[in-house]
Amino acid sequence: MKPFAYVRAGSVEEATAAYADRPGARYLGGGTNLVDLMKLGVEAPAALIDVTRLPLDTVEEQADGSLRIGALVRNSDLAAHPAVRDRYPALSQAVLAGASGQLRNAATTGGNLLQRTRCPYFQDLSKPCNKREPGSGCGARDGVHRDHAVLGHSPHCIATHPSDLAVALAAFDARVELYGPEGARSLPAADFHRLPGDRPERDTEIRPGELVTGVLLPAAAAGLPSAYRKARDRASYAFALASVAAVLRVSDGVVSHAGIAFGALAHRPWRARRAERALLGAAPTAAAFEHAVGLELAAARPLRDNAYKVPLARRLAVGVLTGLAESGPASTRRTS
Ligand code: SF4
Repeated sequence: MKPFAYVRAGSVEEATAAYADRPGARYLGGGTNLVDLMKLGVEAPAALIDVTRLPLDTVEEQADGSLRIGALVRNSDLAAHPAVRDRYPALSQAVLAGASGQLRNAATTGGNLLQRTRCPYFQDLSKPCNKREPGSGCGARDGVHRDHAVLGHSPHCIATHPSDLAVALAAFDARVELYGPEGARSLPAADFHRLPGDRPERDTEIRPGELVTGVLLPAAAAGLPSAYRKARDRASYAFALASVAAVLRVSDGVVSHAGIAFGALAHRPWRARRAERALLGAAPTAAAFEHAVGLELAAARPLRDNAYKVPLARRLAVGVLTGLAESGPASTRRTS
């Protein structure tokens, strides 16, 4: 590991000012991904700005019924929070589906969103990787890519984003709150991560020096039936092969709201807008879900070894949506 400076910030403003003084610095939260990447030599920041003492570690109900999650809320605390479990169960389920108990105790909400791909070529300095070293090539395209993207990939990168939490946030129409040199702003969670295009080194729409300060879950989604389901190689401590988060409201016998997002299919959580549009006004039947999800996944462009992801994702989504259509309000069910 290369030497680096260490700075502890006492406020959000102090953190962003410290970044301005040290271009190429990284903010340090739980460190569960960043420190690993520094040990591997993939990340070599000149400075770490420790933000763990900032007052961003609470889950707060807002007057309008929305829920603000501080960027430093630990994954374990987020998954166990009563308001999250009762009103946004898919989020609790998604967080609990990720990593291990020890990692969830350390990892933060903001850090979870900013974790890097687990593409093995990205983590191996001896291999070409456009994300790690722009212009060097993509080792995965003709190499081992069973876990890689089937939607939205580019000739430059076929990586997937590993977060479970981000998939649920996208389905809920959450917003990611940021603070940086130009002040505060927020982005829809579904648009926070990028597709790779010809700039795969950029994972998100975050600007230099911006710090994730929190996530806002909208009141409109509170209490709607929702669920997260993840397919993986083993029952815990494994990244998704495919996953889905879905939020569904049925009124007068037809779908009046659907929020659907896939994980592990693309470089970002894949919001299934085409499927959602197809479901609005439809009777919530398995056939309608099959049709809508099929429309969405028609855009898939599988690679040599990952075509299995398309039917896997379809079955996950249809199963989750069918279960939600048959369930009562989220507040009447427990999530784990
Ligand atoms: Fe690098 Fe992306 Fe190719 Fe993986 S898929 S080797 S992260 S460019």
